[in-house]
Amino acid sequence: MIELKNVEFCYSSGVIGLRPTTLELYRTDFTVLIGPSGSGKTTLLRCLNFLNRPTSGEIEVEGMGKFDGNRRRLRQFRCWTAMIFQQHQLLPRQSALKNVMVGCLGNYGSFRSLFPLPKHEQLFALECLDRVGLLDKALERVDQLSGGEQQRVGIARALAQRPQLILADEPVASLDPGTAENVLSLLYKISMEDHIPAIVSLHHIELAKKYAHRIIGLSNGAVIFDGSPKSLSSDMLKRIYHHERLKAALAA
Ligand code: ADP
Ligand code: MG
Repeated sequence: MIELKNVEFCYSSGVIGLRPTTLELYRTDFTVLIGPSGSGKTTLLRCLNFLNRPTSGEIEVEGMGKFDGNRRRLRQFRCWTAMIFQQHQLLPRQSALKNVMVGCLGNYGSFRSLFPLPKHEQLFALECLDRVGLLDKALERVDQLSGGEQQRVGIARALAQRPQLILADEPVASLDPGTAENVLSLLYKISMEDHIPAIVSLHHIELAKKYAHRIIGLSNGAVIFDGSPKSLSSDMLKRIYHHERLKAALAA
């Protein structure tokens, strides 16, 4: 579905976020990115959405061809991919429903989005909230909701975009372990039921092993593991997290 060929990303500071990476992502997978902080998970996710324009290499998307910088195609691709973030990035003073309706807006031109959404879109936003179990909180301000509920609003907003791909950057990192698993299993369930492939970065190895079809392990900006959860050995995990332990040792 998405093919990366030698995709590399350097920040303007000169720091390498992602070393040349060749990967193929499939339509059916719930893929989890793991790796210590600074290993390149966010950089890779942002390259997949062209929020980071790769410094070199190319990305080809099924049905869209090679990405060539064309702005219309970029807009189309962004509509097509929904992002879920660790800090939700919701509008805090707005209701859950209003936040979810923001997801619908991507499907309208910027001029059209100045006007209230049509009834059927408002109903669809309510349906999305229902899918994440928050229909009864539709009119509550999101800053009055718990962390887990806020992230469920984030998932509903992503759904309202009618995406063909979900990218989630540490969506459960700021939640307690029980809530983290609830939210992740909800994301997994929706991804499977609606056949929306998801690429999710996670800090929790146990959750990665439980839910991922495919795990991609990053270390120091490079993919050093790509396989099924079963084939992820404890030696490999040590290699993936080697840099984090080195940094901790140096800091101590
Ligand atoms: P992760 O998401 O796995 O924590 P990142 O993709 O954020 O890793 O970071 C990869 C590398 O890029 C790190 O060395 C990090 O310091 C660097 N980096 C990330 N964001 C920026 C930025 N905006 N400017 C410069 N360097 C960055
Ligand atoms: Mg990150």
